[in-house]
Amino acid sequence: MKSILTKSFLAALFAASCLFPASAQNETTAEGTRAIEFPDIPGYVTLKCDLHMHTVFSDGSVWPDIRVQEAIRDGLDAIAITDHVEYQPKRKDIPHENRNRGYELAQRSARETGLVVLNATEITRSMPPGHFNAIFVKDVNKLDQKDVMEVFREAKRQGAFVFWNHPHWTSQKPNGVAELTQMHKDLLAEGLFGGIEIYNYSTYSDEALEIAREHRLTLLGNSDMHNLMDWGYDIPGGGHRPVTLVFATEKSEKAMQEAMENRRTAVWFDNTLVGDAGYLSPLVEQSLEIKEKGNGPVPQVVIHNHSDADYILENLSDYRLHNQARVFILKAHEATTLQVKTLEELDAFTLKFRVLNAFSSPDTHPEIKLVVE
Ligand code: ZN
Repeated sequence: MKSILTKSFLAALFAASCLFPASAQNETTAEGTRAIEFPDIPGYVTLKCDLHMHTVFSDGSVWPDIRVQEAIRDGLDAIAITDHVEYQPKRKDIPHENRNRGYELAQRSARETGLVVLNATEITRSMPPGHFNAIFVKDVNKLDQKDVMEVFREAKRQGAFVFWNHPHWTSQKPNGVAELTQMHKDLLAEGLFGGIEIYNYSTYSDEALEIAREHRLTLLGNSDMHNLMDWGYDIPGGGHRPVTLVFATEKSEKAMQEAMENRRTAVWFDNTLVGDAGYLSPLVEQSLEIKEKGNGPVPQVVIHNHSDADYILENLSDYRLHNQARVFILKAHEATTLQVKTLEELDAFTLKFRVLNAFSSPDTHPEIKLVVE
């Protein structure tokens, strides 16, 4: 059975295999592994990125090469090593004058793996302004200075992309409500940061999403891991780390930065997707492949979900379903059969769904269409 969806899915797969050399692929890309899997969308590759994590070069517990190995096992495309520039609790044991050292070691260990490693750092201040990550930086050493506004200005001079980390962190904001202070407004007015974490480690913030919407900030979700990824998310038990999905024209540092500056991201955490409907709808549609269409007044439609998300769908089609209620689940990496009450024999019809475990603003869910023919 062919469908528009099937054709575009295959086209996306073909485009992906042309863009990535064979050496960049690894054994974790097959379905059913721990690799995080989402399809590309028309016009863009979907890069799976974790842009906030620590090593022994600040307050983390692992050497940088472990971050690289974890990322490869998780099927990621890019990571940023974001050790604190001002906070160096292990300096007596691991003296290092060069604050780019963690990045250099990770970069060396990632050579020829296809994993993109970004030079980055965490600007670590009390609130306001709190903690920020500067990624795509050229020299972290130059960000080690007293005046916080000057640190942000130096990041800008280096062409960095800067985002606000865990604005809802209860250690700095006891009520857990992300809120802009005058200093944040001053930073925004000078164009000194462009993104915000709406998800950090295991915590989510609707208020951060609202701030992002109001001030046109890029959405991010990251692990902020200090020890082992497997322990933090019980990955052997089926868990996954949060990631920022970046919709880039190709897999490269330059294309990634262009995408982030133009807010082409979504966040994946805990079976939930957050982002613009313009990216989420195609992401869900490309995840789904119609494998089979039956005949008669209640045709069977077999849909395979190639993504890691269990999609929770609400039926908005013109037809009711014979074997499902209005809300049902298309499980990750499984085929689900729907019996569609078209009531008459149709050569083609369209199914419409609202994706309840994805949202664009705190109360808006993206919708998808599947053409069955
Ligand atoms: Zn951090």
